[in-house]
Amino acid sequence: MRFDVLTIFPGFFTGFLEHGIVRRAQADGLVSVDVHDLRAFTHDRHRTVDDRPFGGGEGMVLKPEPLAEALENLGVHAKNADKTDLPNVTTRTILLSAQGLPLTQSVVRELAAFERLVLICGRYEGVDERVNELYCDEEISIGDYVLSGGELAAAVVMDTVIRLVPGVLGNEASSEFESFGAEDAAITADEMGVPRSQHGSGGLLDYPHYTRPADFQGLAAPQVLLNGDHAQIRRWRREQQLRKTLANRPDLLAHAKLSDEDRRLLASWGWEPSRQAN
Ligand code: SAM
Repeated sequence: MRFDVLTIFPGFFTGFLEHGIVRRAQADGLVSVDVHDLRAFTHDRHRTVDDRPFGGGEGMVLKPEPLAEALENLGVHAKNADKTDLPNVTTRTILLSAQGLPLTQSVVRELAAFERLVLICGRYEGVDERVNELYCDEEISIGDYVLSGGELAAAVVMDTVIRLVPGVLGNEASSEFESFGAEDAAITADEMGVPRSQHGSGGLLDYPHYTRPADFQGLAAPQVLLNGDHAQIRRWRREQQLRKTLANRPDLLAHAKLSDEDRRLLASWGWEPSRQAN
């Protein structure tokens, strides 16, 4: 999978690209990331990328010409961003924007199906809207808050998508069984309705994790995790997932894959399905 990032701060990505899974994915040839300096597509002495907003108001706006030239240079053409100079490569061009569609794990799964993502990082008050209209397939927001620039958001998109590129995670199935794991993942259940997988997520949040030492600052790791009874461990983990999802993200329960036992437990903690669905 290939990523092209357009930014006025190319150095921003150095640390991100040089650590952990993201670094390894590139080293293994599974992913390539090209960061492009927007100023390389300017033609004036000051390498100007911004200008004052029409209609007045605060701040500056990223000019359309350098972005358009950079995109054309990457084979992304106006009006038809799916058309690319790269043969047989499916491309998605994305503007990072606080006004965009929220990035969720299911959006990440959709993005991971493309062969190439072109990510445009805004700065200042944002990007001239015509760039969005002419070149972008979608606007994506990483949350309901305002960042200083799209670089952090682009890194979040890349990090989340790269984890899903086949071969990147050691265990192919592991992303499926994290928080927000696919609701329709093939997770079989035991007679108590507890998923047989150690980690079955089914659209819930992950369970809490513990490692050695067994006692840390007076807090013991849960005894159930130390006794080697895997059916009990699965059951405990499922209960923890349900508890955490109910406490922190009850909205997820409306779409989660729940067994009768899950529903009984949730109801015993005060969950009212009809209220949570709204
Ligand atoms: N005037 C814009 C607004 O109120 O929506 C905010 C512009 S922000 C200071 C500058 C850039 O940061 C944006 O163009 C966008 O690329 C990026 N950005 C800010 N918040 C973001 C978010 N929640 N998700 C993705 N990108 C964001």
